[in-house]
Amino acid sequence: MELMHLIGLTQTELTELVGSFGEPAYRARQIFSGMQARRLMSFAEMTDLPKELRGKLSDETVIPTLTLESRYVSTDGTRRYLFKTRDKYPVETVFIPEEHRDTICFSSQSGCPLQCTFCLTAQLGLLRNLTPGEIVEQIIFALNDAYGVGVATPRGTNLVAMGAGEPFLNFENLMKAIRIMNDPAGLHIVPNRITVSTAGIVPRIRELATIPNRPHLAVSLAAPTDELRDELMPINKKWPIDELMSACREFEKSLKPNDRFTFEYVMLRGVNDSDEQARQLANVINRYRLRAKVNLIPHNPAEPLPYEPSSMTRVETFKRILESKGVHAFIRRPRGRDILAACGQLAARSTAGEVPASIPTSQRRIA
Ligand code: SF4
Repeated sequence: MELMHLIGLTQTELTELVGSFGEPAYRARQIFSGMQARRLMSFAEMTDLPKELRGKLSDETVIPTLTLESRYVSTDGTRRYLFKTRDKYPVETVFIPEEHRDTICFSSQSGCPLQCTFCLTAQLGLLRNLTPGEIVEQIIFALNDAYGVGVATPRGTNLVAMGAGEPFLNFENLMKAIRIMNDPAGLHIVPNRITVSTAGIVPRIRELATIPNRPHLAVSLAAPTDELRDELMPINKKWPIDELMSACREFEKSLKPNDRFTFEYVMLRGVNDSDEQARQLANVINRYRLRAKVNLIPHNPAEPLPYEPSSMTRVETFKRILESKGVHAFIRRPRGRDILAACGQLAARSTAGEVPASIPTSQRRIA
């Protein structure tokens, strides 16, 4: 029998479980706070609970289920964690230290069913959806590793669902994880600090627009025309640019006055980075009157992907063209490339044999 995974339970569910053990509700509050606020990963450390209850919990439930396989630290301080689930599927999480606020990039699926041609994760295919507990656990692990067990984050933390997987194809589990993390008695990471990135699952964009307390939205575009987007992101054949933009327009109407959403645009040398394509992109965004910003992301090379990143000069020119047409554009600096932690590079590579020879020796494998 598989032990119940407590990190994936809301306080209400935990109260019901603890009640079924004949225990009062305040025990559930203690356990919830032990796991989610103090970030303790064993019942033995929860010394405020009676020994007998700790024994019963250990027999019938489990706190962490992910096992850390490898931990890599980049020369820029980015950390990549490769975990295995109880049923041995890979899960990857990236911690990115930043000047003002650190970011944790988490995975929503093991592998990914979408076939974006510039992304290494696509090559794994979908292994399975992650449970709410497996999503929350990634965050707790990264926080404990970065700051120490239970230590408050110095400047707060941003979360981005931009690791492996298409978050909107695991919508219920993702939203439950977000509700658990939002609990003030636990991690208390409000949805306003979370960004969910989609390749363009149109019905879920429309659904997100109806949810009041929700995370920010980022949409990966990668191409300004259907012809090219069909090739780079085959999900476009199901929901082409016109449908995607109409859904974005609907989402935008639900934004507060000063809020924006984001388009992510991976820049592939000679493929989607010409002046003409910059003008086409600006025209698409302007045609739908979208109050959006565009993040330009130089492609992160990873064998055997057939693309090269655009040069910085090209990225800057592209940005200037967008801006000249009234579109806010930003350049995202690549992080953790040397440890395969950057966007599109997550493919559960761990052992020496699986890591391509192009990875520099600065890669440090710690665990
Ligand atoms: S870019 Fe995102 S949606 Fe596309 S294959 Fe990679 S993980 Fe999946």
